[in-house]
Amino acid sequence: MIVDADVHVSASKRGSIDITIEDLIRLMDKNKVDKAICWPMLTYTRQVSEDNKAIGEGMKTYPDRIIGFGGLNPRLGPKETLNELKKCVEKYGFKGFKMNGARDNYVIDDKSFTYPIIEKLSEEGVVLALHSGVNDPGGTHPWRIGNIAKDFPKLKILMVHMGGAGVPGLHDAAIKMGEEYPNIFLLGSEVFQFRAITEAIKKLGADRVCYGSDAPFSPMKVTLAIYGAVLEDFSEEEKKSVMGENILHKVLN
Ligand SMILES: [Zn+2]
Repeated sequence: MIVDADVHVSASKRGSIDITIEDLIRLMDKNKVDKAICWPMLTYTRQVSEDNKAIGEGMKTYPDRIIGFGGLNPRLGPKETLNELKKCVEKYGFKGFKMNGARDNYVIDDKSFTYPIIEKLSEEGVVLALHSGVNDPGGTHPWRIGNIAKDFPKLKILMVHMGGAGVPGLHDAAIKMGEEYPNIFLLGSEVFQFRAITEAIKKLGADRVCYGSDAPFSPMKVTLAIYGAVLEDFSEEEKKSVMGENILHKVLN
C-alpha cells in the first residue's frame, strides 16, 4: 500500500503544472500509488475554497483513492477561515487541513492570528499539516511547530517537508521537535538531504515518518525512486510504515 501524503490539486488548469483530480488519478495509476492526501494548490490569488470544493467532489467520486485535506488561509480573515473550516468538515468530510505560512506570509505560531483557528482544529479532532521550510525559516521554523504541538497536545501535526523545501534544510530541528513532541509526525516531501530521512527513522522510529511527493512540484516517479533507495536497508515492516501505513493508521485514525 503506497499513500502519497503530499499532493496539490487544482480545481482547473490555471498554470502549466496544475493537476486536477482526474490528472492525479491517472498519475497514481501510472505510479502504482494507492491513495493520496490532497490539498489545494494554494494559488497566489490566495483563494482556497474553489480547490477545496474540487477536492471534496474528488473524494466523493474516488473514496478509496482520495483523502481530502482542506486548505486554510488565515490571511482571508478569521471569519472566512472558520466558515471554510466548518464547510470542509461538515460538507466535504475532510479529516485534516493544510496551512502554509511561507506562501501566505504569516508566522505560524502567532497566538492572536493562527491560534483561534488551530484551537478549532484541535476541537474538531482533525489533523493539521503545516508547511515547514528554509524558504521561510523565520515564520515556519520547526521550533514554531514545536510550540504549537506543546500548546495543543491532542492535535496531530504533520510537519510537511520536515524543515526542508530547499537546502540546507532545518532537518535537525525537525527531528528534535519530533523527539520532544509525540503528536508531531514528519512528512518527508521536498527533503533533498536524504540522510535526514534515515536519521528521522532511526531517532523517532519508522512509525513517525511519512512518505509524500509534493506532486506536481516534484515528480511522483522521482520521489518514489528516491524513497526506494533511501529505505533500502530498512525492514519490510519499516518500509510499509513510512510508505503508507503511518499516515492511514497513526496519523488519520
Ligand atoms: Zn506540498
